[in-house]
Amino acid sequence: MKIKGKIALIRYGGLFRGLKVKNAQDFGAIAAVIFIDPIDDGEITTANGYAAYPDGPARNPSSVQKGSTLFLSTSPGDPTTPGYPSHEGAPRADSSNVLPQIPSLPLSYEAAEPLLQALDGHGVSGEAVNRTGWVGGLDARYFTGPAPGAKLTLDVKSRDAIAPIHNVIGWINGTNADETIVIGNHRDTWMIGGNADPNSGSAVLVEFTRAINKLRATGWQPKRNIVLASWDAEEWGLIGSVEWVEEHTNWLTETAVAYLNVDVAVAGPHQGLSATPELHGVALDTFKKVIHPNFGAYNISLYDSWYDISGGVIGILGSGSDFTGFLHRGVGSLDISSYGGPKDPIWHYHSNYDTYHWMATWGDPGFHVHAAQGQFLALLAYHLASDDILPIDVQNYAVELRAYYDDLVEFLAEENADVDLSELDTAIELFKRSADTVKALERQAVETGDEELKTVVNHRYRDFQRGFVSQGGLPSREFYRHVVTAPGLDTGYAAVTFPGITEGVQYAVGGDLSVAREWVKRTAKGIVVAARILAT
Ligand SMILES: [Zn+2]
Repeated sequence: MKIKGKIALIRYGGLFRGLKVKNAQDFGAIAAVIFIDPIDDGEITTANGYAAYPDGPARNPSSVQKGSTLFLSTSPGDPTTPGYPSHEGAPRADSSNVLPQIPSLPLSYEAAEPLLQALDGHGVSGEAVNRTGWVGGLDARYFTGPAPGAKLTLDVKSRDAIAPIHNVIGWINGTNADETIVIGNHRDTWMIGGNADPNSGSAVLVEFTRAINKLRATGWQPKRNIVLASWDAEEWGLIGSVEWVEEHTNWLTETAVAYLNVDVAVAGPHQGLSATPELHGVALDTFKKVIHPNFGAYNISLYDSWYDISGGVIGILGSGSDFTGFLHRGVGSLDISSYGGPKDPIWHYHSNYDTYHWMATWGDPGFHVHAAQGQFLALLAYHLASDDILPIDVQNYAVELRAYYDDLVEFLAEENADVDLSELDTAIELFKRSADTVKALERQAVETGDEELKTVVNHRYRDFQRGFVSQGGLPSREFYRHVVTAPGLDTGYAAVTFPGITEGVQYAVGGDLSVAREWVKRTAKGIVVAARILAT
């Protein structure tokens, strides 16, 4: 490989940036430079005649995407304290296998263009390489290089240090001490602005606390504890939330019903939604109750707005924000977001241009999308915290498990992988029957008004996710325990379903499928444990 001893020039997009640096390092590069390519901005570019921010909706050519290069898909949280909270004086582990060992820098497209032009005509052309998405929108042919005589010098100053961080935690006691909803958003940002990431989420979270305090002033008390968290050091690798979860794992295992995440609550007018399947129903029902600020002649709901652009597909949680620690300790999670479509102003993610001015002028003039997200969060949290019976739909979890199973069957056929899935099939059937049983129990509890039975049902809904994390860590990544979903080892952000099996096939060495086969058993066992929690 010609990359050995060179500086790798890498385009942003697809996988998490830290894994791009990891790939460069694994192939012998001595440093990495990652640039934004304007082709990812679609229609709204200066090349298409749109003015650049601050004068117009296109990306400012000098916009740089900063960000962590931790190996997110294996080791989120403080890399020196894997699996335990990072207190002062805690023993520190060697972190060299999860932190990049080569320097890297992010670049704007304006700065990257001359580099690509210097490589032009040297090595293999982008067209000949024919890698999806490599040829972008800059004035060059995207040759691989190296170009004789072309030299790039990197001047990187970084510090390896352990420093204090501060999570801010608020707490409202519920009447049921053993049921808890956690709502969180990170507070740290890559620059002073950080207006969409994370301050749009912080605005929504702060408004929510004001609303809930007004309600409390009337004498109202939620049934369930509500914990409000403002996480620190998310941008460094989800450190604040992961360390907090690691400190409170036992208590969360005993009481947590769900974790609601707000991060980039507003980056455009289109409603986003990613969640674990048991929360789909309550999220969609709540969408239907909130008016979308579409500024049109007629009112549409958040549901209509979401459906129009998603086609009804709810995202599967991978990683990239603070739900990660919760989900992989068996707490069902939901992520609230909005984003710009192909015709909307470009949001300058993780750059100095993620400013209040951008938000007020281009992203959400009038802050109506912020208000809608706040209404969505407040209603959703209210139902989860106060409904007599938890609005948790385990039957939908069974439906989704079957859909993931069908995808897996298809994937195995494509890969010509001979892996017997009958144990997984049986486990999913058992889960479905258990879900039906507990649903029948729920109906009975509602009809009879039997408070004890309601508690039994609620506790099963609260606990069943713990089964999915009961089988220990996924191959080569102890942190990630959920047998149904995890960030892809080579994607970081995007989710892979049945990760132990899928990746056991994907990364099989020399056709050896023993890891995949072992993970059919472990995945099935995790689902069986979840099923037994629902209906013993
Ligand atoms: Zn963020």
